[in-house]
Amino acid sequence: MDWWNKESKEVGQSLGTSLGNGLSLEEAKKRLMENGKNLLHQEGTNAGIVRRFFAQFNDFMIMLLLVAAAVSFGVSYLNGEKEFIDSIIIIAIVVLNALLGVIQESKAQKALEALKKMSAPKAVVLRGGMRTEIPAEDVVVGDIMLLETGGYICADGRVIESRGLKTEESAITGESLAVEKETCIFPKETALGDRKNMVLSGSFVLGGSGRAVAVATGMDTEIGRIANLLAEQEDQETPLQKKLGETGKTLGMGALVICAVIFAMGLLRQEPAFSMFMTSVSLAVAAIPEGLPAIVTIVLAIGMQRMSKKNTIIRRLPAVETLGSASVICSDKTGTLTQNKMKVVKLADYGKKKDDEKRQLILTLFSLCNDCHREKEKLVGEPTERALAEAAEEGGIAIEDVQQEMPREGEIPFSSERKMMTTLHAMGDGTWMTVTKGAPDILFERCDKCLDGHNQVHFDSNKKSKARMQNGEMAAGALRVVAVAFREWKKKPDLSKEDSIECDMVFVGMAGMIDPPRPEVAGAVLLCKKAGIRPVMITGDHALTAQAIATQLGIYEKGDTCITGQELSKLSDEELEKAAAHCTVFARVAPEHKVRIVKAYQKDGSVVAMTGDGVNDAPALKAADIGCAMGKSGTEVAKGAADMILTDDNFATIVEAVREGRGIYDNIRKAVHFLLSSNIGEIITIFAAMCFGWATPLLPIQLLWVNLVTDSLPAIALGMDPVEGDCMERPPRQRESTLFGGGLGGKIMVEGMMIGMLALLAFAIGHIYFDDEKMYVTGRTMAFAVLSISQLIHAFNMRSEHSLLSIRPFENTWLVGAFLIGIVLQVGVIMIQPLATVFKVAPLGIWEWLIVAGLACLPLPIVELEKWKDRKLERRRQKKEYVIL
Ligand code: ATP
Repeated sequence: MDWWNKESKEVGQSLGTSLGNGLSLEEAKKRLMENGKNLLHQEGTNAGIVRRFFAQFNDFMIMLLLVAAAVSFGVSYLNGEKEFIDSIIIIAIVVLNALLGVIQESKAQKALEALKKMSAPKAVVLRGGMRTEIPAEDVVVGDIMLLETGGYICADGRVIESRGLKTEESAITGESLAVEKETCIFPKETALGDRKNMVLSGSFVLGGSGRAVAVATGMDTEIGRIANLLAEQEDQETPLQKKLGETGKTLGMGALVICAVIFAMGLLRQEPAFSMFMTSVSLAVAAIPEGLPAIVTIVLAIGMQRMSKKNTIIRRLPAVETLGSASVICSDKTGTLTQNKMKVVKLADYGKKKDDEKRQLILTLFSLCNDCHREKEKLVGEPTERALAEAAEEGGIAIEDVQQEMPREGEIPFSSERKMMTTLHAMGDGTWMTVTKGAPDILFERCDKCLDGHNQVHFDSNKKSKARMQNGEMAAGALRVVAVAFREWKKKPDLSKEDSIECDMVFVGMAGMIDPPRPEVAGAVLLCKKAGIRPVMITGDHALTAQAIATQLGIYEKGDTCITGQELSKLSDEELEKAAAHCTVFARVAPEHKVRIVKAYQKDGSVVAMTGDGVNDAPALKAADIGCAMGKSGTEVAKGAADMILTDDNFATIVEAVREGRGIYDNIRKAVHFLLSSNIGEIITIFAAMCFGWATPLLPIQLLWVNLVTDSLPAIALGMDPVEGDCMERPPRQRESTLFGGGLGGKIMVEGMMIGMLALLAFAIGHIYFDDEKMYVTGRTMAFAVLSISQLIHAFNMRSEHSLLSIRPFENTWLVGAFLIGIVLQVGVIMIQPLATVFKVAPLGIWEWLIVAGLACLPLPIVELEKWKDRKLERRRQKKEYVIL
């Protein structure tokens, strides 16, 4: 349809919508049901549970097991055996494993989907005459979309109202400049990029505001037509997941080689080929750490869910990992470090004595150049605006009265780059007036006159320096200062020429307002510093205001420096990198400076978190290692560019997220440490026995049982461990440090050997003292029990690098649960006769159990000893460093 060639009214009529009220709620619901969601890619319908179950079998290890089951079945059949216990058990274990896999996967997926919903883009539409915020996917044809700066446009629409509406549609038309939108009609043959009365889905509002009727949604939009070409799917796999996937493969290959060696050795020793085959396959299954990437996904998903309860929505999974290594947090001031509850506490002019008439004039001008409006008796608007309107009201001036008297005929909106705004008013006598309010230092330069009583006099350097002093005094007292000026015009001026409007003005006065710091921020700053993270304030406010507040919060300390946007512009990248090292406050900066600041810190190896809310902050949010958008005050564009969203706009929340990030990384390490040391334990048990020329200490199904049933639960439980108390007392993890850094690789080997040796010891004791010669059943049962129970106990060692005596060892109830389930299953398999027969074990007596318990508990004192030794080494290292210093 050529909507651009039709009158707005006609568009409304043919789409069955009211331009003033939008669709009714029922109608919108009906249309959504009929035409479907406003989505580009029809999201892949969730694979059914059965499909997901079978997908689990598409795995090398499972294939190997199925082959083993088939071989076992074939051999039993050839031997004329009637029972196929081994094959049945293998298949049962495979099914159990697949079920576990499905449960884990769907839990992780649900968590990820819930989060995706939370961070899905929003749209503002008129429904039944009410302004309503809805998920963008619920927009239907006929909806009246309310377009505001920084909002995404989520459907193609015909513009019906434009107040300086400018959009950026490069994603669709390739046009890189802002496109100004109009409401007039365009000829039929107008090309897509020139239809200025249409807005396109996938673009966003750069400036101004307006309304448009949605004419196409989902795949019917212009971007929908090219969507298949774009099909850009973001890579959601985190670096850690990738790396672990690779590590898993390498370790798996190693395990396969060892299994092949064991198989060959067995054959050389003239063991039966079939039993050697089964042993090697089972060992391969036990040793290949196939669960590694899955565990990481689960731990990340659980962590993200935990964070969402603490006001942080993660948009990109890798951010969770990066958070743990954040070393610089650059934060906006207003609203993030402070409460954004402005209140005017001081009015100032350069005059000598208190001048009530002048005060009234200042307040009147602040009310004229003001975007607040009244809703049910209350003033509504941006906090700075509201503070000024409230101050005027306290001075007896109602903004609606002055605005009625001198109606607004145009405006140049406020922007963080220009740091001022201007409104145009008709004076009633045919003349005009522009009122400009903004940052004092910027206005001083643009005023050449000031008031002396009713007379306009030259704003000479004397008067300017007096005004500057007043501004400085207020700023040093942590006040945010806004100045106001006006200019008279005989003819209506053209507001599109900003520079020729906001100059040669008459300076009138200033207002200073407090914006108290958020009470929790000082504590969060302290925590950051303890954790080796440098908090940095980035603000559009005056340097002195910024420094005063940063000092109150502990961000700015003796020896730190403050750089202003003006100074920053003059520095080269290298100079900025050097200067940034000591700087904790960047004042009077514009959004475009933020990218340079991020890059300067990144150059020296820092991992940077950066906050932002406006459209212009998007590049900095993307450039930062962790872009944090504001959930409340942030634009949709900023949210789209960010890695995470702070739902309460609070600095303390970022620090909490870093703490969680560190905890999640620790938990991944714990789970990997546990899984790998257990797997190595299993390999060592079989391999060493083979080298000693012993009989095999564990039968294939026993190995499978240990690996698939008692290993995975504790690993997941470790992933849910609470964040360790001292995790914010260590410096941030280095960007290039690997998961196995800090001696983890060595520990895994040593502990794996310990577990293997304990199982072998149990086997030897059982065989020598409790079995008849040539019989191994008690020895195997004891080795089987020690191998699995020692792992279950060893899982508690993972909980901290400190002694277990110094933490609450049973705090993680999941781990306690996994431990108890594991013990019950293990003891059950041994002590319940039918199961014991199936697993080829013999129920143990009291002495045998006591020996098993004693051996299985040994990992506790052994690892305590290891930790003690590590602590001693660490202390010695620190001492040495101290001596060198
Ligand atoms: P940040 O949120 O990044 O900490 P900020 O919100 O304090 O910074 P801006 O909003 O860019 O920074 O404000 C910069 C300066 O512009 C303020 O110090 C003030 O003097 C002036 N200013 C702020 N809001 C307005 C407004 N609505 N109208 C006119 N001037 C304003």
